[in-house]
Amino acid sequence: MATTEVTGAEEVGWDLDDLFQRIDDPSIDADVAKAEIEAAAFRERYHGKVAELDAASLADAVAEHERIESSVVRPLTYAHLVFATNMADPARGALVARLGEKAAGLETQLLFFALEWAAVDDDRADELLADEALAEWHHHLRSLRKFRPYLLTEPEEKIVTEKGVSGVSAWSRLYEEQLGALRVTLDGEEHSLETAMSRLYDHDRDVRRTAAEAITEALGPGLRTRTYVFNTILQDKSIDDRLRGYPSWITSRNLSNETTDEAVEALVEATTSRYDVPQRYYRLKAKLLGLDKLEHYDRFAPASEDTEKASWAEAHRLVVDAYGDFSDEAGSIVARFFDSNWIDAPVRPDKRTGAFCATTVPGVHPYILMNYTGDRRSILTLAHELGHGLHGVLSQPLGLFNSSTPLTTAETASVFGEALTFQRLLADEDDPRRRLDLLSGRIEDAIATTFRQIAMNRFEHATHTERREQGEIANERIAELWVEAQTALFGESVGIDGYERWWSYIPHFTGSPGYVYAYAYGYLFSLAIYRRYVREGDSMVEPYLDLLRAGGSRSPEELAELVGLDLTDPAIWASGIEALSDELDEAERLAAEIGLGRD
Ligand SMILES: [Zn+2]
Repeated sequence: MATTEVTGAEEVGWDLDDLFQRIDDPSIDADVAKAEIEAAAFRERYHGKVAELDAASLADAVAEHERIESSVVRPLTYAHLVFATNMADPARGALVARLGEKAAGLETQLLFFALEWAAVDDDRADELLADEALAEWHHHLRSLRKFRPYLLTEPEEKIVTEKGVSGVSAWSRLYEEQLGALRVTLDGEEHSLETAMSRLYDHDRDVRRTAAEAITEALGPGLRTRTYVFNTILQDKSIDDRLRGYPSWITSRNLSNETTDEAVEALVEATTSRYDVPQRYYRLKAKLLGLDKLEHYDRFAPASEDTEKASWAEAHRLVVDAYGDFSDEAGSIVARFFDSNWIDAPVRPDKRTGAFCATTVPGVHPYILMNYTGDRRSILTLAHELGHGLHGVLSQPLGLFNSSTPLTTAETASVFGEALTFQRLLADEDDPRRRLDLLSGRIEDAIATTFRQIAMNRFEHATHTERREQGEIANERIAELWVEAQTALFGESVGIDGYERWWSYIPHFTGSPGYVYAYAYGYLFSLAIYRRYVREGDSMVEPYLDLLRAGGSRSPEELAELVGLDLTDPAIWASGIEALSDELDEAERLAAEIGLGRD
């Protein structure tokens, strides 16, 4: 939420000169025009001929492909960054739109390369990949071939791609537009869904309950339409998967996440079998709030009265110290973000909400956008984004293709950096109530990132499966499946009356089916590395930095091996959850100590 308090972040803006000078900088169009000419030449040279290339020419082609993409990603990143700090400026919006279209056009031009490469037969591909000339592109080229068993013929692929624009993409956009048009009536006035949702974080229970009831009300109109669109997207995916021969609804997602159906099943099993952890936490939270039992709209209520703020300077010192204690190199990289103006810190009107780190900016360091408010969550968010920043700086020498990570490993450095910073905050705090607040905030974030996402994955699993087996799913039935998944998660710990329609505002289900479990995967993976560091100490520092330096040039399993972990062993998930359960023990102990008592 915007705050009027002064944190010292007000004047901390980023300096985008390392990208371009200004939004009408002629080099923006010059770069894009050059990329377009090169893309046309690339197509001319390689279209229809990828199968005939020898290892050295294939290596040249990939390098050229990467160069072309890099030269359009750079202006596009710049456009997104200038737009993010002032979304009300039509000139900035127009730049994003214009460059977005250019980038999509280029993508279409270059698409053939991946398809033709995937079509090369296995023996020939293995022979090529064994050649030293392709060592640099080994992982990239292997990854592109993973979809090979599920590809259609080239004319079929063309039809699927082109019809997708008026098919699944159009449905997905309609869904988003429907969501964007939702208006929630609060205090006699209409608000966006986002504003209404933000009231669920209010101290006052009446404010939360009223907001929740208004949201439920607002989700009513249009629910039939959203249900129909959801059904259609489920059906489209089932047709696509059938034609391509995918064994399950989630296989294609697992492939792009560079993981396997077995690993994801193990993650789901480990998480769903420990729903006692969130249930125990929600019972504790009820006590913290002085309630008998939580209702669904109480889950995000602040459990503490503590409103102490940290200035930007304090946050700066804290995170640099947290990273610096771990490793001098990490500390000095993180310090550069502050010293060289790579961060846009304050809350400003018309600025994008939330926070992000733009990591794959070819040839340039990453940039971080914050909305710094001075509360504890804000400090941990800063630590989170700086983790992405550190990852980006360390892996950047690998170039665009090799530094890009799949979602499953993208959160490694951010979650790790948050853990480092959290431990420091906790170490500096003696007061049991404030320690309890810190711990419960941490557990709550962990639950939101792991258990909640897996419960949503179970809902997705149920809907995709039922759509395939029994055809169109009625509105009431979708609500039933949603309630089933949520009841499994909450047990008796949270009341969910009135929660039946709340599946229908989550854009992931329609926009990127199967997406949500990766949050849990990434979080538990990173936590496993962190726990190993806590156990083994400094001997883990270099292996961990090596993992970050490797970016996305290796599979998650190979990256895990660098730090002595086995991602194919289901125990990795269970032990992460056990560690979370230990933190919960500590929180319960502190609650007892300050007289909030146990059951
Ligand atoms: Zn992140």
